[in-house]
Formats: sequence, C-alpha cells, structure tokens
Amino acid sequence: MRSCCQTSRPRGAPATGRIGFQASNGQAAGATLQPCVPAPPAMADPQTAPKTCPGCGAKLPDVALSICPYCVTPLGLDTGKTEEGESPFAGRLQRLLAHADLPDAMAWSPPEGPEFIRGGQLVFRGKLALTVGALAALAGIVLAGGPASVVAAIGYAIALGGVWLLIQGKRVTQASVQAELLRRPGVIADRRSETNLKGLGGSTDYYFLIEFEGGVRGEFLWPGRGVNEEPYPSNLPGVAYTRGVELVHFKHIRV
Ligand SMILES: [Zn+2]
Repeated sequence: MRSCCQTSRPRGAPATGRIGFQASNGQAAGATLQPCVPAPPAMADPQTAPKTCPGCGAKLPDVALSICPYCVTPLGLDTGKTEEGESPFAGRLQRLLAHADLPDAMAWSPPEGPEFIRGGQLVFRGKLALTVGALAALAGIVLAGGPASVVAAIGYAIALGGVWLLIQGKRVTQASVQAELLRRPGVIADRRSETNLKGLGGSTDYYFLIEFEGGVRGEFLWPGRGVNEEPYPSNLPGVAYTRGVELVHFKHIRV
C-alpha cells in the first residue's frame, strides 16, 4: 500500500488517476490531503530526550532519564517517575541501600571481563613469539650463516610478529578498562541474549536491563563466558559493576 508520504509528484507531471491514501478511519479519502506527519514516538519527547549521551556517546534508552546509566553524566532531564507511578523495584532498592552487606560489595573490585583477558593472552603470545624469534635470529647469525641467512630472517619475522601481538594486546587491554568502573546498587529488571554464529563455534552476548536508584535504567552487555559461568537471572538485587555499556560483574545481595 502506498503511504501518504509518496503522493508528491514533480511539478507538471501528469497525475495518474486518484491520489490514493487512507484516511485515519480506514476509508479511502478523496481530494483533501492531510499533512503527512510521522507518528510520534510512544515514549520520550524527541525534542528534549537526547539520543546519545553527551558524556560517553552511548546510545540512550527511549525514556527521559536524569542521568546517563552508563557514565552517570547528568542529562538535565528530571524524571525517574514513570506514568505507571513508582517502579516495582523501588522497595527492593530501598532495602538494598540499607543492607549490611552493601558497604563491602561497594568496596570490592570484580575480575575484569573477557576483553581484558583476551588482551593479556595476546601480550603473553607476543612475548613468547618475541623470545622464540630472537633465539632463532641469534641461532641463524651464530650457527647458520650470519645475519643475512634464511634462519636469521625467519627469526626476525617471528620477532616482528611478536611485537605486533604485544602492541595489539596492550591496546585491547587498555580499551577494555578505559571506561571508569562504576559500582551501583541495582536490580536486574530484565535480560535478553543474542547468539553470534562464527565458524564452528559461536558466542552468546547477554543484555541485562538494570534499574538503579531514582528509576534510572540502562541495558548492559555481558559477553557470555562459556559454559562454566551461568548468566545472572532476572529479578536479581545486588551491586552492578559496570564499565560504560558493559556489565563486568553483578554481585547478588539477598534482600
Ligand atoms: Zn554516558
């Protein structure tokens, strides 16, 4: 079906029959064209709610928030209260804030995520390749015909590969901890997952919708850790350790 937006035609072009468009009551309308206005978004006012955070550049949820859920930059939009009234998690958040285990959890630092570990592995392999390459080059120079020998050249190449791995690994490690680690009491309100098929393997990314104090909500990525670590269930109260849009860890506190 043709939408009302497609009814404009170049000046002078012949009108082919009736301009077909549906009136809002579902019946075909005749000559009177209504202005073509896109349907307003159901939630936030697009004039006031920014699409991305001015602090960290993360994509913001479609609701007016007082602070960015990912870097806690104030957004100048004071809401927190939804049309449905108080959040169903508000009571648990209050009990969480008064809980005796909270200070310890807020002082704790979780192990870093999979990207940090991957960076460390690249650095390790880089150092290994650098050592093997240097030894091969040395053997080539001393035993197999000097600095221009084939064995020495292979050693140089392996060592160069090692340097490249070292640089990549350091870059991955630094990027993984670039966003500040935030520790906040919250409740996992919802979760979803996306499975990426890659070659024979594949990985699953989990997205957790976490609600913090004042009704601030954000969806955080938690890359799957394989079969050894279960993703967190919904409706879980505790402390969320986040870096930007990534959930590094969630520590359960029973309330
Ligand atoms: Zn932000």
